[in-house]
Amino acid sequence: MTLLKIRSTLFRFAVILSASSIEKSDRLSVKSTFTVMAASAAAASRKLHATELYVPIKPTQWPIVYTNQYNINAFGMQNLHPFDAGKWGRVFQMLKESGMLSEADIVTPKEASSQDLLFVHTQKYLDNLTWSSVVARITEVLPVALVPNFILQRILLKPLRYQTGGTILAAKLAVERGWAINIGGGFHHAHGEDGGGFCVYADITLAIRFLMASNPKIQKAMIIDLDAHQGNGHERDFLDDESVYILDVYNGAIYPRDLKAKAAIKKRANCLHHTKDEEYLEKVKRTIEEALNEFKPDIIVYNAGTDILLGDPLGRLDVTAEGIIKRDEIVFTKVRAKNIPIVMVTSGGYTMQTAGIIANSILNLKEKNLISKESGHSIKDIFPPEGNEESYIPPIKEVDAHPDKELLEPEKTMKKKQSEL
Ligand SMILES: [Zn+2]
Repeated sequence: MTLLKIRSTLFRFAVILSASSIEKSDRLSVKSTFTVMAASAAAASRKLHATELYVPIKPTQWPIVYTNQYNINAFGMQNLHPFDAGKWGRVFQMLKESGMLSEADIVTPKEASSQDLLFVHTQKYLDNLTWSSVVARITEVLPVALVPNFILQRILLKPLRYQTGGTILAAKLAVERGWAINIGGGFHHAHGEDGGGFCVYADITLAIRFLMASNPKIQKAMIIDLDAHQGNGHERDFLDDESVYILDVYNGAIYPRDLKAKAAIKKRANCLHHTKDEEYLEKVKRTIEEALNEFKPDIIVYNAGTDILLGDPLGRLDVTAEGIIKRDEIVFTKVRAKNIPIVMVTSGGYTMQTAGIIANSILNLKEKNLISKESGHSIKDIFPPEGNEESYIPPIKEVDAHPDKELLEPEKTMKKKQSEL
């Protein structure tokens, strides 16, 4: 026993000595490296269960994920919350009407199971969701507390579990095709232990953790969060995790003002109330350029919230519809030019204009050749595709001040209430 104690003390002394002989900057570097290694190792050490979410994509399909199950249409409940609960279906409908795609051209996700959710969420949190009062708090729909939980599970939580499954699937498709879009998801206020701001399931964290656990080539991720609100959910999940770099451009004067989560942000730009297109887009462009110079991720999750829209009563920013389309174009141009897989989720923004803007933005990405249906979009040297498809990265065009093609006319009427998402 004594001998063991002596050996242990000597070992500790040797470690301290060797550490003290390293220059301060080197120590920081070593510490940082160890942190990355520890975080990566922790993520990699978690073995992914046999999930059913990773459905295959056909060569003829767009890496766009959607199902009618996303939409919340029951008992008029959609009118109780500041939330256009049919937004996702209307985006898909507009894309269909544009002639871009049909049901057969997109990938249908499955509902995230309890086992899938437990990869990030605690059992305690999932158990709490069987209390209607907890669901009411998270969704900010107080009357929900009076609805029997089994009904809530079916009409409210199930659509959100489908959207969560959609984000997890879309991240995998992005790795295979170079890009992917989930027409739903982006619940950036939810984290492993709790939800808030209508975000129940931490789909962004889940998507990254699933990839890291299933693909050894995915060790580092970046989250580009451009929703008007701070993405405190994924930030809490990735606090002290150097394998995930978070860029967040948001209005710091609105919900959730989460100081603890803020520590996880590596690149931040604050927007004041009524920030307009020029200033906003300059912040987006600058922070993305800086972030991509500082960090080389294997996957990027783009949280493309549209509540930055002029007139959105909760986002409180003054970015126009054209500004939002331009923003998405800037993100895809910068990221695709670096050959980094990107998965986009639609997140917050629930005015009646929102669906039209999202649809127009996707059409604009297609028009600018930043997204393509061809499976040859996969990035061969990192993620070789099955078969002998030629690796093809489209030429990146210079972005114009305004989309030069007439786009779908977004609906003009505004819904008074909106979500915190
Ligand atoms: Zn938001």
